[in-house]
Amino acid sequence: MNLFNLESSEFLVVSGPCAIESHEQIETVLNSEMAPSLIRGGIYKMRTKKSSFQGLGPEGIEIIKNLKKKRSFKFITEITDPRQIDSLLPVIDCFQIGARNMYNYELLKELSKLKKPVLLKRGFSATLNEWLGATDYLSDLGEENIYLCERGIRTFETKLRNTLDLGAVIYLKKNHPFKVFVDPSHAMGDSKYVEQASLAALASGADGIIVEVHPEPQKALSDPEQALDFKMHHELVRKLEKACPIFDKKLRV
Ligand code: PEP
Ligand code: MN
Repeated sequence: MNLFNLESSEFLVVSGPCAIESHEQIETVLNSEMAPSLIRGGIYKMRTKKSSFQGLGPEGIEIIKNLKKKRSFKFITEITDPRQIDSLLPVIDCFQIGARNMYNYELLKELSKLKKPVLLKRGFSATLNEWLGATDYLSDLGEENIYLCERGIRTFETKLRNTLDLGAVIYLKKNHPFKVFVDPSHAMGDSKYVEQASLAALASGADGIIVEVHPEPQKALSDPEQALDFKMHHELVRKLEKACPIFDKKLRV
């Protein structure tokens, strides 16, 4: 059940909108030139403000269920509560644990019992020891099914949404068996910085990125500032493809 049987020689680009908003939105992403084979999209959103778009919930699950009947793609989404497991299991290929839930050990223990890979995001201010500690709660999955994701941490710096800790990626790749992803979108918080942060992730030894892309970023119901449009996404993939051989990697989209 290793996600995609991802090899250490590969660099995987996972992309999709911050949140699933409609059937058409996801279909448009799947029809785009650089369509991801593994698509992201939030169904249950952990928003800072309760008045913000909270995700489509069960309606989002139906959208993916219906699209999977006619299209071939893999799907990753965040789970925020163990009560979502039964309805998410049939439609997802990988669970995402968000930064806010990295310390939710009861949720991790429940996921550890299942046969699905987990992408474990780093908490806002989690040390590497705390992050690695959280992987212990998932250990029944086997290390090959635990994907770490550096998504920027909170520091004294405030100009950017978060501080992308690529040192952590370098450290983890040299000392631990886990695959490590980078989320340049939530780290940088602005689409104009995403390409360079992604190239830096590749140079840091990451196994891939998970990046936000939206057919019409300015209309996105969540995180509009950081979503790439298709042109930017295309350009990003093209640059990564060019850069991959320098790091003995092969690009997988
Ligand atoms: C997300 O990827 O949709 C997300 C909310 O990210 P994070 O948990 O890293 O804030
Ligand atoms: Mn987002």
